[in-house]
Formats: sequence, structure tokens, C-alpha cells
Amino acid sequence: MKVAVVGAGWAGLAAAQRLKRHGHAVTVFEAAHTVGGRARRVHSPALNIHIDNGQHILLGAYTETLDLMRELDLDPATLFHRERLSLESADGRFKLRAAALPAPLHLLAAIAGARGLGLRDKWRLIAITSKLQGSGWRVEKGLTVASWLYRGGQSPQAMRNFWQPLCLAALNTSLEQACAQLFAHVLRDSLGGTRHASDVLIPNVDLSRLWPDRLEAYLMEGDPGPSRLHRGRSVRKLACAAAGVKVDDMMFDAAVLAANAPAAHKLLERLDPSAEGKQYLAALSAFAYIPIATITLQLASPWAPPPAMLLLHDEPARLHFGQWLFNRHSVYKHSTQTPTAGYADACLLHVVVSDAGAMQEHDRELMVTAVIEQIREQTGRFGPMPAVIGHSLIVEKRATFAAVPGLVRPGNATPWPNIWTAGDWTDTGYPAVLEGAVRSGRRAADLLHRALALP
Ligand SMILES: Cc1cc2nc3c(=O)[nH]c(=O)nc-3n(C[C@H](O)[C@H](O)[C@H](O)COP(=O)(O)OP(=O)(O)OC[C@H]3O[C@@H](n4cnc5c(N)ncnc54)[C@H](O)[C@@H]3O)c2cc1C
Repeated sequence: MKVAVVGAGWAGLAAAQRLKRHGHAVTVFEAAHTVGGRARRVHSPALNIHIDNGQHILLGAYTETLDLMRELDLDPATLFHRERLSLESADGRFKLRAAALPAPLHLLAAIAGARGLGLRDKWRLIAITSKLQGSGWRVEKGLTVASWLYRGGQSPQAMRNFWQPLCLAALNTSLEQACAQLFAHVLRDSLGGTRHASDVLIPNVDLSRLWPDRLEAYLMEGDPGPSRLHRGRSVRKLACAAAGVKVDDMMFDAAVLAANAPAAHKLLERLDPSAEGKQYLAALSAFAYIPIATITLQLASPWAPPPAMLLLHDEPARLHFGQWLFNRHSVYKHSTQTPTAGYADACLLHVVVSDAGAMQEHDRELMVTAVIEQIREQTGRFGPMPAVIGHSLIVEKRATFAAVPGLVRPGNATPWPNIWTAGDWTDTGYPAVLEGAVRSGRRAADLLHRALALP
């Protein structure tokens, strides 16, 4: 069958890979000139090298994403720097590291041995997690993460050093706004999983090389041919016909619409609006979006002592917006991969700011200067940071949807015949993360395949 995939983010690409494996001829349309959507390689004019549009981390629990790579003979063991869950503040006052023990001892030992938490804090942390597990990882409907934590008697120290960084990293939504149930799903699959499920995986190649580049080559090769990928081709119109779906002026048996939610809404609202269609469109337009900012600093020389990933204490009043610090030198140290040209040698640090709305009001140069000062202030124990010789700041304005309670997320099946949707915004049970996007793409492809196979 001829199937169109609109959008080549990780959801669309996962759908394309699956559809091709099911034996369909796949045509992918991507509006941008690079595939990967919100997780892609970009050229930084300021640094004149390739960097990512934003630092991404994966978890050991992201099984379907890792599976996609293995399907194309890519080896996650060489593509990622993998380490046990470690939350360590740059100033050294807080440290929690999963132990090399079977689950759940790996976590119990981590909490028991954590630096920066009192005995009472540790006990309450264990109690709230065990209670959540005991309830089948279910929390009361409509609860925010902050309310759930207050009810569980969490101390300000535990909130600031443990819960807030985890919640922001996973949901990109503040504790006060974030949906406790979505957070519980992430905890279930990571902290509540096997010992390796909570491992942190930091890519040691750029995001496009992790998998999208290889997939592009796979789509073009072998049977059933020819599958195609059109970049720089923004789809303007979908139309349902008796024999399938018309994508602009091309006919297909079916389509997976894997654009981001606002773009998907634009394409679907022009179709015949049944009552179910209107409901579907209403769910699509109900999302609010939250930015993520990534500051990349290029150092004059490698900075060996700091580990790959550190927590920064933010202090917005002083423009100290940094929340996480990634040291590429420590990531690459163990890598056997040939680096992307100019990428590894560049002695890069990445500073991540989740829920970055407040930061957008400030002058960019002043803010970068303040964040450099923040790093120097908090990393004194590692010796002086080499001079910063260049920087880039990328703000992804619609990085993720706000993962708030009460969201009704559309499913992959739509009321329009022969059209399925995929994207991190669909009803994946996850917040907006790569694993959700990938699962959604695969599920849309499976549903479509089954429907086409029916007489
Ligand atoms: C800065 C940043 C940091 C992040 N950090 C993490 C992290 O650490 N871990 C994690 O798991 N997740 C992270 N995420 C989230 C993750 O990147 C997203 O969940 C995921 O990439 C979404 O993929 P998607 O395919 O659903 O959507 P998208 O990536 O948005 O893909 C949609 C694609 O459709 C294309 N498109 C739209 N309209 C059309 C059209 N009309 N015709 C053709 N093409 C069209 C777009 O150009 C785009 O390529 C981060 C995101 C950002 C922005």
C-alpha cells in the first residue's frame, strides 16, 4: 500500500520505519530541510559548528526508542554515554546516586546515602515513593505534583534538590502546574522499573546521527520501493477520497499525520467537520506550550574535572537561570564514535533551562553573562573554568506542551477515514518526550496496517 507520513519528527520517522517494515511504500513529507523535528542537529552561526537544537537526555526506560535504533543495526551502547541515575549539584552540597544493586535496592541505597538530605527527608522520600508504588502508580485525579508532594510531607530540601529537577526534566512544567499522574507514569517506568530503567543516557553524537540520518538511508533502500523522503515540503492540504487520502496533489491509500499539534490542527480543520471531528479538533487546540532554552558555551580548552551532568541552583532574580550543566568533554571521554565535525573538539558546555518563559523577558547577552557567572560561582570545587570564547542561545518556544492535570489528549485514530495521527501530544500516557513520540508513531503505523489489512 502507498502510505504518506506528514512530518519527520521522531513520531513521523518511527511511523515510517514501522510502516516500511510492515511492507508498505512510504512517502515522508517534512516542512523543514532537516529531519528530526524538535530533536535535531542544527548549524550554529555564532559558533560555526553543528550542535543540537537542545540538549536531550534519554532514560534506560525508553525501550521503544532504543529498539528503533537496534532495528537499524545501530548500537545504543556506543551512541550514548550511559550512567546510573545521578543527581549532583554543581556546588557539591547535594548528591544522590543510584547504587549498583538490583532494584529496588539501587534506589533505597541511593536515598539512604544521599548527601544534603536529613534523616527525616530520606524517610519521607522513601515513604511517598513506596506509597505511590503500592497504589499501582495512581494518584488522585486532577492533582498537581506540588500538591501531591505537600500531602506526602516532602521537605523544601527534597523539593528543591530532588523533585523539582526530576519534574522539570521530565515534564518541562513547574511543580505547581504539573500533572501528578503523568509524573507518576514516568516514575513508574524509571525509578519503579529495573535497575537499568533509571539510567541516564546522554547522546555522544548529535541528535540526527543518533537515528534519523540512518533511517533516511533505510527508507531509500531495498523493497518495497521506492519509499521517499521529501524535505522542505510543507503539506498544505489533506483530502479524504473514496480510495484513500489526497496529500496536496498526490493520492495515497492512507496517511499518518505526524505534524506538531498546531500544524495538525490546521490541516484537519479543513476536512469535513463531523461532531467527532469537532471534538478531536477541540482537544488539539487545548494545548498550551512551554519553552526550553539551551545555552551552549564554547571553552578555550577542555574542562576535565566536572562530570557529564550537574545540577545548577537557579536564582532568576540574579538572572542565574541555569538548571542543568552538561560537560561534553566528560561525555566524549569514553566515546568510541567519530565525532560530528567540529562538535567534540569544541569543548562545549550546555546549560539547560526548562520552563523558560520567565527568561525570555531579559536581554539575551546579559543573561548569558549572568549564567556564565552562575557556573563559575557554583563550580569552584572543580578549579577555574577555562575562558568562554563563544556562545549560542537557542530558545525553542514550543518545546513541549504544558503537562497540566485534566488534559484530554487525542488518540491515534481520527474520525476521518484513512488518517491516523502521531506525535508526543497524542494520548501516550507520557509527557512530551522522545519515547512518547516514538511509541505514538509506532502505534499509529500498527493501527493503520491492521486497518488496511482488513477486507
Ligand atoms: C529543547 C528541547 C529539549 C528537549 N529535551 C528532551 C529530553 O531531554 N528528553 C526527551 O525525551 N524529550 C525532550 N524534548 C521533547 C522531544 O524533543 C519531543 O517530545 C519530540 O521531539 C517530539 O517529536 P514529534 O515527532 O512528536 O514532534 P516534532 O518533533 O514537532 O515533529 C513534527 C514535524 O512535523 C513537521 N511539520 C509540521 N507541519 C508540517 C506540514 N504541514 N508538512 C510537513 N511537515 C510538517 C515539523 O517540521 C516537524 O519536523 C525536548 C524538546 C526540546 C525542544
